[in-house]
Amino acid sequence: MRKLFGTSGVRGVVGDQLTPELALDLGLALATYLGGKGSVALGKDPRTSSDMIESCVTSGLLSGGCDVMKLGVVPTPAVSFAVRQFRAKAGIMITASHNPPEYNGIKFWGSDGMAYTPEQEEAIERIYSGKQMKPTAWDRIGKVEAIDVLPGYIDEIVGTVKLKRSYKVVVDCGNGAGSVVTPYLLRKLGCKVVTLNSQLDGFFPGRGLEPSPENLGELCSVVKSIGADLGIAHDGDADRAAAVDELGRVAQPDKLLGLISAHQIRRKKEVVVTTVDASSVVDDCVAERGGKVVRTRVGDVSVATAIKKHKAVFGGEPSGAWIFPRVHLAPDGPLATIKILELLDSTGKKLSELLDMLPEYPTVREKVACPNEKKADVMKKFKIHAKREFLSVKRILTIDGVRLEFESGWVLVRPSGTEPYIRVTVEGKTPTRAKEIGRKAAKILKDAMRD
Ligand code: MG
Repeated sequence: MRKLFGTSGVRGVVGDQLTPELALDLGLALATYLGGKGSVALGKDPRTSSDMIESCVTSGLLSGGCDVMKLGVVPTPAVSFAVRQFRAKAGIMITASHNPPEYNGIKFWGSDGMAYTPEQEEAIERIYSGKQMKPTAWDRIGKVEAIDVLPGYIDEIVGTVKLKRSYKVVVDCGNGAGSVVTPYLLRKLGCKVVTLNSQLDGFFPGRGLEPSPENLGELCSVVKSIGADLGIAHDGDADRAAAVDELGRVAQPDKLLGLISAHQIRRKKEVVVTTVDASSVVDDCVAERGGKVVRTRVGDVSVATAIKKHKAVFGGEPSGAWIFPRVHLAPDGPLATIKILELLDSTGKKLSELLDMLPEYPTVREKVACPNEKKADVMKKFKIHAKREFLSVKRILTIDGVRLEFESGWVLVRPSGTEPYIRVTVEGKTPTRAKEIGRKAAKILKDAMRD
């Protein structure tokens, strides 16, 4: 039923899928959904198209009777903060996160500071596709107010941590929205900060926006050469953070997720949420602190929803989207940054030492071509065959694809939400076991496709 919304709001190439007209209509559709009153906090990343989309969304909201709080260029989590701080009825962030500069997107936020759920997005889409948008009369058109949310947002985050000593940190914001927060935040905490690509530039000339190893070569070498304690990289809207240890290595995301998860557990039986594709190193770390792991579908909205449901103390994905519900329900890159520092500070250890203490679980990732219309049928057959073929299976999870868990590893077979592929992720306690599970799963999948 949903055609406009993907896993993270509406996203596309500007002028192609994402046009000024669509932005205008979505602004008006949200105002209609909100009953034509109340205010909406509106932020944007520094893309070349963000001013244009912002103007259109603003017009749509005003014409539908809502007031607009213009936040300017801010990280996505600052929109979530603004919604709560100023009691707005909703929030909108204009961003395409880690996508290339020709993309942009529109993501909606609720009054509780959580991203809109698929149900809320569907309601907006119904208003849009049914052309039920309601412009208001001339004397009820909304007003625009510019608000500087950053000092309050930075103060809130700084207030969540106290460091015993000063750290040297290299920050690479990829010319994205993190540039206006993370360097300042760290200086406020008494850190010595060196910045890379931390001036706003909508062409993102510094590096690819995904904070993955192939884009972080410069950060790694600077951290090592100046003897920094830590390197941090954000994606374009800074709802995510990746870390580089003091040896200049990109921290393996699942291990870092495990360390942070364990660190958030203060009492036994507290719950941590992670996605079905995360490594069992997370389970190991959490079990050691007496906590419990709940697995959910891939995507930060699913994580936030599960956090609420299970009253979890933390939730995160291996992508680096981490939610600290003691502060708010938005994935937050600047907050993740200081939580990593807090981890170093409270353990008194270097990041490389903490990472190297964890076990190494070999992973194999593969994708098998499968037409979209066949996916559901193939997955059904895969589940039936897999149950029969894998005799040592301990547990089967079907919340997102099929995840089979064994004593010595697991396999996740999951149809891609956007491409004609079925993805196979395997993790084994040893490389041989990983390969063995992977081979078997691939065979079952291919048989299921032939049936
Ligand atoms: Mg992002």
